[in-house]
Amino acid sequence: MHINPTRLQSHFEAMSLIGKLGNTGTNRPTLTKTEKRAFELASTWMHQADMTTRIDNFGNLIGRLEGTNPGLPVLMMGSHLDSQPYGGRFDGVAGVLCAIEAVKTLTQEGIRPQRTIEVVSFADEEGWRFNKGLFGSRGILGKLEEGELDRTDKDGITRRQALIDFGCKPRKFRESQYAPGSIHCFLELHIEQGPVLDLANKPIGVVSGISGPLWLTIKLKGMAGHAGSVPMHMRKDALVGAAEIIVALHEIAAQVIYAPTVGTVGTIDVFPASRNIIPEEVTFTVDLRDIDLERRNRYEAQLRGMIELICAKHHLTYQITEDWNSEPRYCATWLKEIIHQQCTNLHLDAPELMSGPFHDAMALSYATDYAMIFVRCKDGISHNPLEFASYEDLALGAEVLYGTVLEVLGREVVMGYE
Ligand SMILES: [Zn+2]
Repeated sequence: MHINPTRLQSHFEAMSLIGKLGNTGTNRPTLTKTEKRAFELASTWMHQADMTTRIDNFGNLIGRLEGTNPGLPVLMMGSHLDSQPYGGRFDGVAGVLCAIEAVKTLTQEGIRPQRTIEVVSFADEEGWRFNKGLFGSRGILGKLEEGELDRTDKDGITRRQALIDFGCKPRKFRESQYAPGSIHCFLELHIEQGPVLDLANKPIGVVSGISGPLWLTIKLKGMAGHAGSVPMHMRKDALVGAAEIIVALHEIAAQVIYAPTVGTVGTIDVFPASRNIIPEEVTFTVDLRDIDLERRNRYEAQLRGMIELICAKHHLTYQITEDWNSEPRYCATWLKEIIHQQCTNLHLDAPELMSGPFHDAMALSYATDYAMIFVRCKDGISHNPLEFASYEDLALGAEVLYGTVLEVLGREVVMGYE
């Protein structure tokens, strides 16, 4: 091991005290005094790794190890220090702290790279406070959408105001954007947030890509009537139709066993929602994800076919709205090969797996080559105070990340840094 597992563990332990919730939980919302304290703490570690630090106008914390050739596009690493309101200690934190550990190890070993390295804690990855995430990582690439600054949190505070209160200048976003071609590649280590590695008993996984979610809203319309008097064969019950569609989605997504496809109905609204009225209108959401876009498209077509059939059977009309449709974003082969090699060097059998959740890396994927290292998390639990990754696994992940950084820097590395 080149990295220092004891130091890494102490950083996790210190960070877990900021926004601590119960024994093992974290509540560290974006753009708050709590997150600012987390940034200050991470900054002290960045300074110890010879990095300079800044908070940009999007609210990203950026540590920078200046290369001897500052004209080269930067090697960027990172994740996020904001958490879910009822979150754990490792989601996001792992990617920031392991990246700092990799840079600290690099400088401690007397290595001064030609290429500048930046470690970023991206602003508002989680997205719950203003109901839209990946803010900082989209921001630096000029990918914010109209009206994002006017979004409010539950207390009515706009994102604009929260940024200003945090010390950022939303009028000067441009100054914090990265020009096309200025990022050489992006590396993100993250806990898996799923059970695949834990079940396979493997500490580390190499991410193949981030699956693209398809989000639909489906509205079914039938006819309300008295629950006590309308005979069954005459009903147009929108909720019965919805129930059959939900089961159909489940079966469509599960038709190939062990495939990474997932389909979920997460919300449902019933109108008029009275126990003695036949449901007239039902609205529900569909979340369908797959790393294989062709298969996902095929499944979407199957789902649409089933909706047609089921609605005809129950005499319902329907309307489908597409809310979000993003294609899978694949990791760069050359980076995956480097990560696999690092795992082999450590005698780790690291499987490739896709990421169902999005990460900051998804935003970065539109600007540069990227790769992700997954660290096993117990029972796949995440976004929950019970979230757990062992310090041994995290140290292995940091070591793989360190080796990857060295390899990416390759011949550009200059020895003899004092
Ligand atoms: Zn995360």
